[in-house]
Amino acid sequence: MVENLNLGFTISNSKFSPARALVCGGFHTPKHTQQADLLSNFLYDNRNGWLGAIGFGASFAKPTQAVVEAETAEDAIGQAATATGVPRDILEHFANNAEAQEEFNRWREKRKQKPKPPKKEPTNEDLRRGRVAEEAVNSAFVERLVLERQIRPNWDVIREARTKMIEWNTNDESQVVCQICSEEMPFKLDDGSYYFEAIECVKGLSREIPQNHLALCPVCAAKYKHANGTTSEELQQRILPANGSEVPVTLAREQSGIVFTKVHLLDLQAALRAIGS
Ligand SMILES: [Zn+2]
Repeated sequence: MVENLNLGFTISNSKFSPARALVCGGFHTPKHTQQADLLSNFLYDNRNGWLGAIGFGASFAKPTQAVVEAETAEDAIGQAATATGVPRDILEHFANNAEAQEEFNRWREKRKQKPKPPKKEPTNEDLRRGRVAEEAVNSAFVERLVLERQIRPNWDVIREARTKMIEWNTNDESQVVCQICSEEMPFKLDDGSYYFEAIECVKGLSREIPQNHLALCPVCAAKYKHANGTTSEELQQRILPANGSEVPVTLAREQSGIVFTKVHLLDLQAALRAIGS
């Protein structure tokens, strides 16, 4: 058997003499010879599989349907890339990828939904200027009063909380991620650090606990502070038994969730249980 294989390999890579008289007078390997090229007195018989084994006529074989389709699709993408100027890798990403196309459509729809700019035009400009000027000169002077105000002077806790928030919410790509919308914080300060707001998670506790803070982007922070539909008691009752990473909250009248890293959730649960409030 090994001898047969060796012989087959040797023949398949050698010039094949039975075809020489009909194929431009030269010698050809079996791969580049087909049955029609053979001398009429050469018996074509592949019942023992030997001609197949040496690759006889392989270069004349028709490509399979799948290969043809793949090559045609490839050409179509190449032609489309040239015709449209859209990079080939982008076309390949969207070709036959319904999910990617739908995601793109959703993004485009969202972008389209910008509100119309408000148009408020003065009816009589001169009259208006005069009236506003009169109102301005008669307006009250700014007064400043010193009022007694309650503050929480534990700045060290806030500093510690911010340090922990950065540590816990920085991903492998060094991006600080918002714990509500899961997006990268929208901008950096002049010193290169991310701007974020360290917001108290469960309000009304009797102790200052650094772990009881969330790293939020400005929009989510505003929603959390001013449009929070979940009470502190409800939130605490959801945090204590949680064993996933997301704790549901209602913000700006929509269902949302606080995304915790495992270490943050574990620390917060331990702290809440310890103070028992
Ligand atoms: Zn956010």
